[in-house]
Formats: sequence, C-alpha cells, structure tokens
Amino acid sequence: MDLKAHIRGIPDFPKPGILFYDISTLLRHGPAWREAMARLADMIRPHKPDLLAGIESRGFLVAAPLALELGLGFIMLRKPRKLPGLTIGLNYALEYGTDRIEMQADAVQKGQRVVLLDDLLATGGTMAAGINLLRQSGAEVPCAAALIELTFLGGRNRLDVPFEALVAYD
Ligand code: AMP
Repeated sequence: MDLKAHIRGIPDFPKPGILFYDISTLLRHGPAWREAMARLADMIRPHKPDLLAGIESRGFLVAAPLALELGLGFIMLRKPRKLPGLTIGLNYALEYGTDRIEMQADAVQKGQRVVLLDDLLATGGTMAAGINLLRQSGAEVPCAAALIELTFLGGRNRLDVPFEALVAYD
C-alpha cells in the first residue's frame, strides 16, 4: 500500500511558505492507518523498547496505538502546565523564540528503554529536546521515529540516536 497517497500537503499552512503535511487523511482511512502502525511497529521492535513516548499532540496519535500494537505502555511529553503532579521540563529553541516540553518526573524507571515518537520530523529540534528530557528522567533512548521525515531539513543529523520514518519527502 502506498501510504504517501494518504498524506496530503497543504500549502501555506499555518503560515505562508510552509507546506503542511496533513495526516488527517491517513488517520481517517482505517486500512491505511492500520498498515502504517503495523509497519512502524516492525521498524521499532528491533530496538527493544520497554516503553513508548509521544510528543503532544500528534505524537500521541502515533505512540498510543503503537504501544498497544507492541504490548507496551505509553507516556506523554506535553506542553507546559498540562501534566499533574511533579514534572520535569526542558526549554528548547525554535526558529523564533523558545518552547518547553514537560513529563511526569516518575514516568520512567532508571535505565528503561524509551522510544520517542512524533508525527513528523522537520528540523529535529522538537525530537532532540524530547530525547534530552527523557534522558533527564533516567531513560535510555534506543531510537526515535516518526511517520514522516522532511529529509531536506536534515533533522536526523541533530539526533544522536538512530531515527526511523515510514515515509520521506525531499
Ligand atoms: P521540528 O522541531 O522542526 O522537527 O518540527 C517538528 C514538529 O513540528 C512536529 O511536532 C510536527 O508535527 C510539526 N511540523 C513541523 N513542520 C511541519 C510540516 N511541514 N507539516 C506538519 N507538521 C510539521
């Protein structure tokens, strides 16, 4: 099955000059979504995760079903002040300004292997921050993965772990 046929590029969203890769069309096609999750599970299994982590918000849509498919638990990396209880967080640089992600301080046991997921890798800044935050929590991160990689932005070069993607655009 050609998964790219189920992903559409929407020009000038959310601002002029950006081609936004919309996974809504993949999500609403049952067989294609199921196939995407099965293929990504096959790519991640060799990295022997103990847990999966997803980055808010579209990363949750990928990590949660994959965790079910792999029979694993799932943890959330969220925008600031969304998670209850004791949290740890990390600020990271955007093209303009900074952003922050947080996770619950007790989400990971020291040495657990946590694979990090998002819908799309662009510059890699978000994924790199997520990897660093997971490490701060005591996790080992054997790999990171996404449905989509924008190869022309070189995001995987900013990551110090292997990176897996289902489809790539250049
Ligand atoms: P980056 O930190 O530059 O790798 O950006 C990745 C994050 O921004 C992911 O959470 C994506 O959901 C989102 N993102 C960046 N660029 C795009 C794009 N062209 N289409 C859809 N989502 C994008």
